[in-house]
Amino acid sequence: MAPDKRNLYRLPWSLNDNPIAWLEITDICNIHCEGCYRQTLSGHKPLDQIKEELRFFKRWRNPDNVSIAGGEPLIHPDIVEVVAYIAELGMKPVVLSNAKALTPEVNRELKKAGLAGYTIHIDSHQTRPGWTGKSEAELNELRAQVTDIVSSVKGVYLIFNSTVYADSLASIPDVVRWGRENLGRVHGLVFITYRTAAGETSIARDAADEEVDLSQLSYVSETVEEAFVNSPDVYRTIKEQFAEYEPAAYLGGSIRHDSIKWLAGAQIGSGGEVYGSVGKRTMELAQIGHHLFTGTYIAYLSDARVGAKVFLMAPWDPLVRQAAGRWLRAVVRKPSRIFSPISAQTIGIIQAPDLQPDGRADMCDSCPDMTVYDGKLINSCRMDEYRLFGGFLSVVEKGKQKEAETVTQLER
Ligand code: SF4
Repeated sequence: MAPDKRNLYRLPWSLNDNPIAWLEITDICNIHCEGCYRQTLSGHKPLDQIKEELRFFKRWRNPDNVSIAGGEPLIHPDIVEVVAYIAELGMKPVVLSNAKALTPEVNRELKKAGLAGYTIHIDSHQTRPGWTGKSEAELNELRAQVTDIVSSVKGVYLIFNSTVYADSLASIPDVVRWGRENLGRVHGLVFITYRTAAGETSIARDAADEEVDLSQLSYVSETVEEAFVNSPDVYRTIKEQFAEYEPAAYLGGSIRHDSIKWLAGAQIGSGGEVYGSVGKRTMELAQIGHHLFTGTYIAYLSDARVGAKVFLMAPWDPLVRQAAGRWLRAVVRKPSRIFSPISAQTIGIIQAPDLQPDGRADMCDSCPDMTVYDGKLINSCRMDEYRLFGGFLSVVEKGKQKEAETVTQLER
């Protein structure tokens, strides 16, 4: 069972009109995550260069928010100035962090500078003092601690993301369950499927067709033993335990017509109960309406409390209609429920690039996480290929080079 693209809204994002700009301010980090795309090569970026990249984004990307990434952005000495400058340029600053350096004081200072929200990366394959080796369910305690810090200041939104591995797929519902219990305080959950290339059994070539040493990339493993998790696997795993969950929108692949690279949805509920999900029409209205009124598309909900007005979409959106019915029944059962604020919580599933037999990678169509490198917009997940080898690599399995050449020739 995979979601049918015909029942989903294709997000209207593009290279030059995309709600997200991905700003990398450092490649230094204070913990280790398996499969991290970044390695330390250049350290903290100078503030002048960061400001120049932000003006570039403003000019060429038209973003609603800027994802301040790394490495770990909270350890950059100029993080407060970066947040303030993004807000000054009229964009929403969002910090992508592992939260190790997040304290109530840092949170307050960043909010004062104009912070809109956080995306916090916590998962069971991180080497993190005090939490290494914990399961996804056990890590909910850490997620709760971070939620307490973030929600101690009003108006900061909070999304948690986790990388999904074959051995952690089955525990995704534990995270979703915890998220539902924190509806209203946690604005979203994102699950990103792990990908790597097998260094020992692959041959990599740069743009000049020279063979290069693939093991220089931090996200390359010596060998790959297990099958990767795909976005439909994550969808099924959530759906099996939460029947009301449905995605509403997607981004496909840059090469394959059948891949689903981004799967976006939102659950609606109140008082600890989820009534259902929004459907493609509501997602379409949210994107088009936001663009009409603000000039940009939208990726994150600034306020989880969407209120009962979301049910106004019921005539056009069957999923919202079902949710409205469940809400009404809940109110009849317990009339005080009418005063519980209705909140939304997004669920995103991202399938990282997939290597194809011809050596290319199937990327996210209209990649939302593009960053600036050397005056160009490039996919941030592959920036280290640019930093180490000057451009994207072509990677094929040893012994299959002939096959790859044939596929490429046929495609020409
Ligand atoms: S292609 Fe873009 S959106 Fe997809 S994983 Fe890479 S950086 Fe992220």
